[in-house]
Amino acid sequence: MSDTRWWETFPWRMVQTNLREIDMADMDAKSYVDELKRYHATVVTLNAAGIIASYPTEVTQQKQSDYLTGDTLADILRECHKAGIRVIARCDFSKVHETLYEEHPEWAYRQSSGQPLIYNGYVQTCINGDYQQRYVYDILRELFSKYDFDGLFCNMSSTFVVDYELQVHEPCHCKNCRRLFQEHTGMEIPDSLNPKDPAFGRYMAFIGACSKKQKQRMYEVVKGINENNAINGFDYFRTECNQDVNHHAWVYDASVNARRIAGPLHDKVVDDASAVYMAFRYRHSSISRGILEIRQWQNLAYAGSTSLYLLGTLGKSADQSGIIASKKAFDFFAQHEDLFRGQQSAARVLLIEKPLMGRNDPEADGWVQVLTQLHIPFDEQKIGEVSAPLLKRYDAVILADVETMSDTQCEMLDSFVEKGGTLIADGCSSMSDERRQPRKHMGLQCLGMDEITEKKQVRSAIFQFSDAEKEAWVSCKESGVDCIVPGDLVVTGTRRKEAKTYLRMISDQPFGPPEICYSTEKTEIAGVYERDYGSGKSLYIPFRIAAFYYEFGYDNSYDFLKDIVCSLAGVKSIAPTLTPMCELAVTEGEAGKVIHLINLSGAFANYTYCEPLPIRDIFIEIACGADKNMDALNGGHVIRTDKGIKLDCLHGYEAIRIY
Ligand SMILES: [Zn+2]
Repeated sequence: MSDTRWWETFPWRMVQTNLREIDMADMDAKSYVDELKRYHATVVTLNAAGIIASYPTEVTQQKQSDYLTGDTLADILRECHKAGIRVIARCDFSKVHETLYEEHPEWAYRQSSGQPLIYNGYVQTCINGDYQQRYVYDILRELFSKYDFDGLFCNMSSTFVVDYELQVHEPCHCKNCRRLFQEHTGMEIPDSLNPKDPAFGRYMAFIGACSKKQKQRMYEVVKGINENNAINGFDYFRTECNQDVNHHAWVYDASVNARRIAGPLHDKVVDDASAVYMAFRYRHSSISRGILEIRQWQNLAYAGSTSLYLLGTLGKSADQSGIIASKKAFDFFAQHEDLFRGQQSAARVLLIEKPLMGRNDPEADGWVQVLTQLHIPFDEQKIGEVSAPLLKRYDAVILADVETMSDTQCEMLDSFVEKGGTLIADGCSSMSDERRQPRKHMGLQCLGMDEITEKKQVRSAIFQFSDAEKEAWVSCKESGVDCIVPGDLVVTGTRRKEAKTYLRMISDQPFGPPEICYSTEKTEIAGVYERDYGSGKSLYIPFRIAAFYYEFGYDNSYDFLKDIVCSLAGVKSIAPTLTPMCELAVTEGEAGKVIHLINLSGAFANYTYCEPLPIRDIFIEIACGADKNMDALNGGHVIRTDKGIKLDCLHGYEAIRIY
């Protein structure tokens, strides 16, 4: 199987089987592939090389498995290819066996004390040591020359050293790292990954460059053997939905991963691996069935792919519950492949986020939650990915506390508003330039705040509506909400004279004893700045209200954000009467327009995920003209109404096609 750039048109239903070394002892290639076929998998990722080689290797710098007594990698590849299943080689070069370390101590990562990092007999290697600089390429050459793989995924190829306790370790202090960093920067390696350390920024740039160079070289080596190998990070993009003992699953994890990577055009192949297991320490036990099912529907809706990730094989995994629950979306996708081919997002709202790695942006996550619950389809991009042509797709843009912005980025968004767009910005958006230097004036000219006075830390401050302005705040008024809690930071500054403001801050007030819990002092500090700019409009909220909502979920925060988006910015929900417990995405492409509905009503009581309750009589304000056909493809029934369409009942997932 060597079709040109196969991954671009291939229905991507991935099952990643992280095989234990003992799984090769009685490997039965036919059964392994039969299980994948029954699951409708089209791609599989399996362990090939690195920490332990799953094949007879002549490269002595990797440990060969002691358990190669069952069917071989070649058998598995042959059976997979016979069944039309593509096979990605999973390699992990982050560790070597202790016996190799003893022969080559210079390969190891070193703490500042000089100690290596040893975990269950395996030693962390350094990206600048000879193992990762030299021998991994020998391994890759051997692996891809001997075996007919279809792609490569390198695990644990992060620039940070993180162990299986999820502890992030200090930068490597081995001789090579110290020498190279000194040559590049004239500085010593910082002792910790502390952003306040003067060497931190230089170190991050250094280690980022080392990693980029390595990935590029691996790409060239593997593509040099066969250019139709799909390489993670270049041809497809693997991300992960997981949880661990200190990290719970969020109901929108997969939506965020899939939407961010696929982008508005869905022009990237997304492999958002949903980990079945609870944690590194509980790899044999499944998390709740409900969230596993939800994740696959979200992957399908936002990226047109599904991906499951487990320890062992599908058949031998002791806990089958999560595997069974995840299968529903695989089955549906297999039955309706055409529906997901060439689809793009139909969203008219863009959420712009900070350029952070990983999942640590509560302001963006709060906006994800609000927009989803309001049924306003949206796309997500990091600020660096946004361009003027991209902005033409949108009526409204939300800037989630994006503090660091270049002058060019500010001008691009100013121009978007000037031409008629609506911008909602909050927190510290545009307050620093690209060198992270604080600006005296807001970088965005279109905002109602001009000169910045301070980033004010507050503890018990609130913002109160005046009676006169309440009319504009439809949801807050209806719910009887009188004041808004901003969280712990408020940006103060001067108002541009043409801007209108809402709410006034009541400064920190005593919160005990209750007899004295009141304040008579109302400041002139505004809670919202509204400004017409060119043909468009901006709204600026000088605090991080979405992060506050993400953390606590209070409905008065939700009412306030709903009014910002719907009442003040005039963005329309496409299903205003539908419960927030339903997630809705709209895509369009070859198969027509597709409305995806995902039932999240099973999520409740902290982190419990149960069978969702049926949601009946769903009205969606998307027109379906008399010249169009429509159908619901997962068991529902859909009819035309005055304002749009009506679905009779939603169980787990529904796809409504208008064509
Ligand atoms: Zn090093």
